[in-house]
Amino acid sequence: MKKLAEYEDKIHSCSKCGLCQSVCPIYKVTGNDCTVSRGQFIMLRGLIKGDLKMSPKINRYLDLCLKCGACSKFCPSDIDVVDIIVSAKAEYFKKHPIKKFISFIQRVFVFGLGVKLLGLFSRNIKGKDFEKKVVYFGGCGNKLKGNRAVVKLLNSCSVQVITPDFECCGIPFLMRGDVDNFNKYKESFLKILNEQGISDVVTTCASCEKTLKDYIKHSPSLDTIKVKNIYEYIRENNLKLKLKKKQKVTFHKPCNINNFEDIEWILNNTENLEYVQMEGFDECCGLNGVSKVNEYKIMSKVFSTKHNNIINSGAKIVLTSCLGCEAALNLFSFGKYRVFDFAEFIAKNCG
Ligand code: SF4
Ligand code: SF4
Repeated sequence: MKKLAEYEDKIHSCSKCGLCQSVCPIYKVTGNDCTVSRGQFIMLRGLIKGDLKMSPKINRYLDLCLKCGACSKFCPSDIDVVDIIVSAKAEYFKKHPIKKFISFIQRVFVFGLGVKLLGLFSRNIKGKDFEKKVVYFGGCGNKLKGNRAVVKLLNSCSVQVITPDFECCGIPFLMRGDVDNFNKYKESFLKILNEQGISDVVTTCASCEKTLKDYIKHSPSLDTIKVKNIYEYIRENNLKLKLKKKQKVTFHKPCNINNFEDIEWILNNTENLEYVQMEGFDECCGLNGVSKVNEYKIMSKVFSTKHNNIINSGAKIVLTSCLGCEAALNLFSFGKYRVFDFAEFIAKNCG
């Protein structure tokens, strides 16, 4: 990962046009320029030039950013905002031993031991053998669910699924600036993949997919590794899906997804599936805000926009393709709807 100072030219290229304000879910709630990329870049330039010092206040503004990337997609200067914010977070993180300690505890006990123990109850199946083989990266949440959905769908595409014991992709750590632990997850992934001798990787989670692709983007020597989302296989193979009974669903598009056309194709071509597009289907659910208890007022406004859009869609089933979005949306559904991983839903409900 680059140091903040190495982004100086990129930060300088911000024209202050303010277009990012129109799409930033946090700015829409706060109206405060320090919470959107334009204002954050002014602060970060001050830090690089030495006019400002990193402080808890600046860190709070960086923390409020949901790392959704909506501003980058809109930015005429083509600035990768999330990379820059994460790099600034990393500079703050490394100077705060207490944050390092909390992160260590989370890595060992929550993402390590906790996931391993709960994973004991998940059911993995072997599935059928085919000439084409892929390894399945389940991410920490999917590790708890097992691999049945993925095996069923990929076997229908004549693809064999190998399920090694991967750890987390590391994105929860990177987002808070913990680069050391993030790199440990990256090394673990590469070691396990190398042991398998297979370079085709499949995921069902958009955040895992983006993170694995970023490993490759930042290390050109890894470009033999091919990462795909399961939906690409389903569409490529023109897999005809049919639900056992009629179901009305809506879809929440995770910020990290880059193959929505494939998902849309499945939504529109699965028999007995009635798909209703909710307003703001592609806006951030606010997942990164779930842990920010101290920012409850701001975050609850972001969540309530998504919650109301889901309710107004009239669907009681929400599908998505990110473990984090699924967990966050279920947490704030208050029993009004249920949220499922898309692959899991179709594998379970198709004949
Ligand atoms: S959209 Fe891009 S160029 Fe315009 S103010 Fe925001 S970050 Fe700067
Ligand atoms: S990444 Fe998302 S939350 Fe952060 S500044 Fe950009 S639009 Fe706002």
